[in-house]
Amino acid sequence: MLSRRKFLRTALLAGIGAGLGFLGGCGLREETTPTPTHARPTPTLPPPTHEARFYTRLENGSVACGVCWRRCVVAPGKLGFCANKKNVDGTYYSLVYGRPAALQVDPIEKEPAFHMLPGTLIFCTGTASCNNRCKFCQNWHLSQQTLWDLRTYDAPPAAIVAMAQDEGCGAVSFTYNEPTVFYEYMYDIAALAKGAGLRSLFHTNGGMNREPMLALLEIMDAVTVDLKAFTEKFYREVSESSLAPVLRTLEVIRGAGKHLEIVNLVIPTLNDNLDDIRSMCAWIKANLGDDVPLHFTRFFPAYKLQRLPPTPVETLEAAAQIADAEGLKFVYIGNVPGHPRNSTYCPRCGETVIARVHFAVLKMALADGKCAACGQPIPGIWA
Ligand code: SF4
Repeated sequence: MLSRRKFLRTALLAGIGAGLGFLGGCGLREETTPTPTHARPTPTLPPPTHEARFYTRLENGSVACGVCWRRCVVAPGKLGFCANKKNVDGTYYSLVYGRPAALQVDPIEKEPAFHMLPGTLIFCTGTASCNNRCKFCQNWHLSQQTLWDLRTYDAPPAAIVAMAQDEGCGAVSFTYNEPTVFYEYMYDIAALAKGAGLRSLFHTNGGMNREPMLALLEIMDAVTVDLKAFTEKFYREVSESSLAPVLRTLEVIRGAGKHLEIVNLVIPTLNDNLDDIRSMCAWIKANLGDDVPLHFTRFFPAYKLQRLPPTPVETLEAAAQIADAEGLKFVYIGNVPGHPRNSTYCPRCGETVIARVHFAVLKMALADGKCAACGQPIPGIWA
């Protein structure tokens, strides 16, 4: 929406240029750029024991990983792009299985999952690393690190499910770093959780391939997908990844009938072009339907994008109005606590069906998944 020049001028006038910083999602203020993970030397780790899934053995001892769109071909003794898997003598292993780096109880609204069990606590698990290299990552201290950079816990899947139950959580969640790069661990936790009567969901960049995704969706209840922008240029230059696999993933999840929510982090000067946002909203409606919740969230300076100020709220509001005009029914504004678009409104009568301030649910007016005022069904998982 803003040109770079106009935006930087505005930032300087407001005294918020480089060096002052803002509290972002992870409160970072450093001006130094962390060392890229993949530039670090390969460590000496204990021998891995958990074999990976969805890979094929090649004739020369290499393996081809089929979990995400990168389809790494990995020679013996080497790691995949995400550094979470290793080829040991022609067998591919997960290095992070049972080794989380982040365990936390969150409200489900933080996922964000606004149309699933409002007010529920979720037990969140994350590990090291990612298959993207997003310059704006709010969780770079996990996602852009490797297993050997981080302090980890010894937590097999049963321990995660037991902790979730002890903490009174209604669901397990896989988030903070990209769950695709700890697929085997996520799958086993979710399977155990399902057997224990817990729901499960995950937050992903959408880069998982179709076959592993379909297997996972058989035991998952919901997915939140980052649709980071609507141009290949942005994905290539800002995330070192690709848009096309994400669009395919969105269609796979919707086609499987699983609950889906989409997050678009709007970053000043990089992906705030309103024409692109209009194209994205039109694509969502045409390919996924008009009732997929869409969250426009506010960027705060983080990781390698310390010099960009936070997204103006007016930009988020303009994006939301475009989504409305394109016919999307559930459009939210995130990272702006107290904004009216934190809440859910009935698309038929306009009544507030879930009143929220940021992640807190203040009031619900839903009856059996329908608007209490007019009876309009509201899509989601409510019971
Ligand atoms: S999951 Fe990791 S090893 Fe497998 S294809 Fe993706 S980046 Fe490569």
